[in-house]
Amino acid sequence: MRGFVDGGYAESEGGAWDNVDPVDGSVRSRVQEADAALVDRAVRAARAALDGAWGRTSVAERAVLMRRIADRIEERSEQFARAESGDTGKPLTQARELDVARAAANFRAFADTVAAAGQPSFLTDLAGGKQALNYAVRRPLGVVAVIVPWNLPLLLLTWKVAPALACGNAVVVKPSEHTPATAAMLAEVLAEAGVPDGVYNVVHGFGQGSAGQFLTEHPGVDGVTFTGSSATGTAIMHAVAPRVRQVSFELGGKNAAVVFADADLEATLAGLTRSVFANTGQVCLCTERVYVERPVLDEVASGLAERAKALKLGHPDDPATTTGPLISAEHREKVLSYYRLARERGAQVLVGGGVPELGGGLDGGSWIEPTLWTGLTHADRPMREEIFGPCAALVPFDTEDEAVRLANDTDYGLAAAVWTTNLSRGHTVAQRMRVGLSWVNTWFLRDLRSPFGGIGLSGIGREGGEHSLDFYTELTNVCVAL
Ligand code: NAD
Repeated sequence: MRGFVDGGYAESEGGAWDNVDPVDGSVRSRVQEADAALVDRAVRAARAALDGAWGRTSVAERAVLMRRIADRIEERSEQFARAESGDTGKPLTQARELDVARAAANFRAFADTVAAAGQPSFLTDLAGGKQALNYAVRRPLGVVAVIVPWNLPLLLLTWKVAPALACGNAVVVKPSEHTPATAAMLAEVLAEAGVPDGVYNVVHGFGQGSAGQFLTEHPGVDGVTFTGSSATGTAIMHAVAPRVRQVSFELGGKNAAVVFADADLEATLAGLTRSVFANTGQVCLCTERVYVERPVLDEVASGLAERAKALKLGHPDDPATTTGPLISAEHREKVLSYYRLARERGAQVLVGGGVPELGGGLDGGSWIEPTLWTGLTHADRPMREEIFGPCAALVPFDTEDEAVRLANDTDYGLAAAVWTTNLSRGHTVAQRMRVGLSWVNTWFLRDLRSPFGGIGLSGIGREGGEHSLDFYTELTNVCVAL
């Protein structure tokens, strides 16, 4: 697999690596690493596109194009879903229904956003009865570096590429080294839909000393939009600091759920099952800390453990499969290190805690058991650090204030979910969560016009609807003396 630069697949003098199938450990493909020269070509191609016809397109033209792209993604839905499921090991049904469906929705949502966006203007009163008119115009940010992770590769990529292109930017995309396939397929779809050469470029590779670093340090890049770990966010901030470039960061989480005794327990257990175990726990929004009001702790613990046992780990093509493997053997080792740590810290393991034996040719894959603990406290690292696996700790609380204090006792601040039938409490507790996204009686329910992002270690800035325009455009204020 090669990078895609200036409208075509591109050779590079960089190395190559095996893209490993997390389902069984087999090699899916060889991926060519972009060297500094190819990254430079990609940035130059993006700049040339901005200086050419793409830089002169109207908002209306781009909105039409974004809708056409959405249609093309849907036409090739099965191909995208198979590529996504192949790279990640996630169930094919999920790849179809969530990842690919959302990719198309992202392009439609940002077509609508740019078509509807306006700017306030101000009539300024001056001495002597005169006036001035102030209004601002948006211009594209320029060449945007888009760096994304492996957990929801196409969904997260299009969440950034759609607003970037709708606003008239050109992009250089670096997908995760684990999931190169759908970023390359998207290049073909964009070209078919009529996106000019150089507007969307893909460079494959790693972070430090590879395409990620070459891209973020490139002087021709005007801004970096990044989804990934907080540690990589820090490295990217360092890389762009000498040239003071814009960043938008969607980073890690250590997300809490708060379950009150008055919650609808059936609905809560169904919600928690999703929020803890969806995508094998590899969603930045996944719950890893569950605070439960003491009277219902036992019921929630046993109900959630029962549902965890009922999850079906298996081949992604099997429609009965609910849960795939982790992304890699290396990531499984990281998650297992937290499983060991939890035990050493005296956790009671309600379910899971190890590696399953699935047979059927799957034992070379990165499989892991869904796991729940009780008995941990905030002094324990599994309660403080993002694990990014199918696991959570349950902790009792006695008062609303205690629940809020515990939920907010983290350096992260991405998402929280509050489960209660008390309407007033739902609102007040949700608002007291120190996070970017606070849900009541649901989880991962998104309106793409609403702001998305995190506080503290979870990120910088908000994307979504008009919030995305604030990152992907620069404002120029025009002041006219009347
Ligand atoms: P990661 O930070 O290791 O890698 C993300 C991307 O950054 C990859 O493409 C990687 O190659 C690249 N990269 C790594 N080092 C780099 C460097 N020095 N310079 C430039 N690029 C570099 O993250 P990951 O393991 O791929 O993904 C998991 C993480 O992503 C978790 O922490 C998760 O919470 C986070 N995440 C956050 C959100 C969100 O919206 N907040 C969404 C999904 C995932």
